[in-house]
Amino acid sequence: MSANNSTLKPAVLVVGAGIMGAGIAQVAAQAGHPVHLYDMREGAAQSAVEKLHASLGTLVTKGKMAAQDVAALLARIVPVARLQDAADSTLVVEAIVEQLEAKRALWLQLEDMVDATCVFASNTSSISITAMAQGLRHPERLVGMHFFNPVPLMKLVEVVSGLHTAAQVANDVFFLAQSWGKVAVHARSTPGFIVNRIARPYYAEALALLQEQCTSPVVLDACLKAIDFRMGPCELMDLIGHDTNFAVTQSVYQANFFDKRYVPSLLQRELVDGGLLGRKSGRGIYDYAEGAVKPQLAAAPTADFPARSGVQLHGSGARMDAWAQQLTSAGVAFAHDRGADWTGLSTPTLQLRQTDGLTASSLGAHVAVFDLAFAPESSRVLAWAPSVRASAACATEAQAWLSALGYQPQQVADQSALVVARTVAMLINEAADAVQQGVCTVDGANQAMKLGVNYPAGPFDWLAAWSAQGVIDVLNALDAQYGGERYRVSPWLRQQAWAALGSA
Ligand code: NAD
Repeated sequence: MSANNSTLKPAVLVVGAGIMGAGIAQVAAQAGHPVHLYDMREGAAQSAVEKLHASLGTLVTKGKMAAQDVAALLARIVPVARLQDAADSTLVVEAIVEQLEAKRALWLQLEDMVDATCVFASNTSSISITAMAQGLRHPERLVGMHFFNPVPLMKLVEVVSGLHTAAQVANDVFFLAQSWGKVAVHARSTPGFIVNRIARPYYAEALALLQEQCTSPVVLDACLKAIDFRMGPCELMDLIGHDTNFAVTQSVYQANFFDKRYVPSLLQRELVDGGLLGRKSGRGIYDYAEGAVKPQLAAAPTADFPARSGVQLHGSGARMDAWAQQLTSAGVAFAHDRGADWTGLSTPTLQLRQTDGLTASSLGAHVAVFDLAFAPESSRVLAWAPSVRASAACATEAQAWLSALGYQPQQVADQSALVVARTVAMLINEAADAVQQGVCTVDGANQAMKLGVNYPAGPFDWLAAWSAQGVIDVLNALDAQYGGERYRVSPWLRQQAWAALGSA
């Protein structure tokens, strides 16, 4: 198979005509390849083609595809009743049941059938490509080609190399995926590959915050949507299904020899055990029963600036520049200590500090902390917490400042790094370890998270807007609060922090 020669369209065999196989057949045919589609269930391949017929017909009705293009595309997909009927294929994409033995058996069967140069690509989401290749006569031809659901819409393909995979094969599949209109990223075969690994903390930190009763699901979701995630972690897990999400977490945990970094959540286990699987079962973290009332955020209290003098801004950066402008416009007199070692605002009765991981309670009695932001700020939901030693008046003042500055402040329990800082620090840390271990590049991780799970930014985009030392401070604070392995700092991140010190 020579994929970067666009005039040559390898004959593709897709094995498994389920949700993924049908989508893969569609994109391959759309790119002009002749496609054979096989499923062990009698009639399944034919019925997948009929479903494609119906869904593509809708696109024609909506004017999104021309009728003749759809007809040509569908004519290129031929269901076959036996694998032997597609023995002339030069690329096989496997999308069968997620079981190592079933996949191995399929490849062994195919090895006796197809040419020695035929490339074997597996759409597995979690099985080791190295393990899958074991026992093949030509293990170097097996590569992961991990599409995301729904295949025609999701741009990302992780091209996964096991220890045996030939670089040429991985590169051919990389360019082939590009010629199918996808963005391909190379990944090494390690648990969760790129996306399913780096995304773990998005779910895990939310579940930990819920388990510790730090805040409610609706506040958690709103805080993360405020930095432009399309869905908060609670609604996303409800959509994915807790059974599926828990199974992926468990498989990453087990495959990493029970590294505590990936420990599954007891709370999610409880949801699974109770059949509260999310949308599909009518109830998960939220209730989807007919008539159920979706919880809403508490209405944002409006407030005037609590003081007009004695105010000082601390630290620099976009947020403090914006605050300075707002105070000036509102006629609030203030001093600005740009060189301060913390960021925020103080009055004679309050320190309102942007989180650096430390709790307000550990910083003093008249202290409140508020969360990080990575997006332009206006009417943004923002988590904040007062010191457990703060008086009611002090807490009220903190909330009033945040409201007057235009936020929708959401009070959460005073624990390390609140919501956004904690979650994003952990996503960056996981991505840093993936880069350190050669699983992917910095660019690959950014692309994968933006295109595979629609993140608003890549982990290293967030890092660029923050600092390696800032992330390390948050992780260290979390580690001091919780202990254990979960928040250990990636060596890659430490190197970035040292590099940032320069040679002076
Ligand atoms: P699915 O259950 O919808 O389809 C699997 C199909 O494979 C079924 O039609 C089944 O009859 C057929 N099949 C099973 N064993 C077979 C065999 N030995 N030979 C031929 N056909 C066989 O599953 P799916 O969601 O399409 O997932 C398929 C693969 O794609 C899995 O490896 C899965 O991990 C991976 N994947 C799934 C998603 C997703 O969101 N569903 C995303 C990425 C990757």
